[in-house]
Amino acid sequence: MPLIVNLRHLEEHNATLCGELPVDELDLETGDEMVQAAGPLQYDIEVQKLESSLLVRGALRLALQCQCVRCLKPFTHGLELKAWTCHLPFEGEDRVAIVNDCVDLTPFVREDMLLEFPQHPLCKPDCGGLKTKTGKAQKNADECAPSAWAELDKLKL
Ligand SMILES: [Zn+2]
Repeated sequence: MPLIVNLRHLEEHNATLCGELPVDELDLETGDEMVQAAGPLQYDIEVQKLESSLLVRGALRLALQCQCVRCLKPFTHGLELKAWTCHLPFEGEDRVAIVNDCVDLTPFVREDMLLEFPQHPLCKPDCGGLKTKTGKAQKNADECAPSAWAELDKLKL
């Protein structure tokens, strides 16, 4: 189900939308093999119809399957926008598309989530990397492995 809100339902009171958006529906084309969506996007948002615009507020959550750019180990990264706000005008150049009184919020969710994707994912900020010369860096690389796999296992459940 796409994330669609019917404007007619908003005439008298705000709408609360809570659910999950499948990855296929979200259609996140990152072009980046290091970062992929690992599950459905969870949303918990409130939609309010203003005089000449829609105001969308709420939380968005998405689990990402990342690959560390330094040590190449896979790990999961939880992306969360706790106070996502989206303002969609009905008029002007930036007006939102309305089809049969309905507005599809998916493109706006997609856009803002993509902005939050890590550009250079690291399993941890001080990851020692794959090829190391010093004992200390090697130790760091070893340490990042078990936790990353543990996170993955949790996700599969
Ligand atoms: Zn790493």
